[in-house]
Amino acid sequence: MLNVVLIGPPGVGKGTQAVMLAEKLEMLHISTGDMLRAAIRSGSELGKKVEAVLAAGELVSDDLMVNLIRERLESEEARAGWLLDGFPRTVAQAEALQELLDEIDQTIHAVVEMTIPDEVILERLTGRLTCRSCGATTHVSRVPDGLESACPVCREKTLFIRDDDREETIRTRLEVYRHSTDPVVQVLGRHYPLRKVSGHGTPEEVGTRLRDVLG
Ligand code: AMP
Repeated sequence: MLNVVLIGPPGVGKGTQAVMLAEKLEMLHISTGDMLRAAIRSGSELGKKVEAVLAAGELVSDDLMVNLIRERLESEEARAGWLLDGFPRTVAQAEALQELLDEIDQTIHAVVEMTIPDEVILERLTGRLTCRSCGATTHVSRVPDGLESACPVCREKTLFIRDDDREETIRTRLEVYRHSTDPVVQVLGRHYPLRKVSGHGTPEEVGTRLRDVLG
């Protein structure tokens, strides 16, 4: 049983790796970004509340996020181990997470920070296409007909550009990351084993590196 927090800037490949890792290691994948996007798609109260925040590349309030996470970590599926992807993103969230884990008698076995230079992030995200059907991501340079192409994973022709993958929003997200999330690595690193992994290379190469550091 392994509980892992995966941290890294937008575009580092965190989402892709989280899906692969969670499947290989049979952990519950908890992606706060996916949860919020699902809420927006469903038109729920939560979705209406957070839609503009996501589109601007800003952060959703800590209270709301901590409540979402609490529900997931207390769930039955979380007992086999979990992989947090996109949470905590602020020092306040990191502190709330520690309190919550103490309360439910769980711990973090590893914090993994994925790193990559900003230029690579911009190049990756400005060309990123996301599949509305299965959530997979790809890059314009890897599909034949841009937005009209079939999704490389589920073959549906439902690729779109996320609102927050526009250049200006990407710059905001990077700034938000440096300002709010970088300090989270320090805070968690004081209490739990911290590993750094480069996000360079193919998803398979990065995946091998990640599994190596997780033993
Ligand atoms: P992601 O898919 O992880 O890049 O998340 C997409 C967006 O969802 C972020 O840019 C934020 O607006 C919001 N979000 C996701 N996780 C969090 C979090 N832990 N705290 C605040 N906002 C979040």
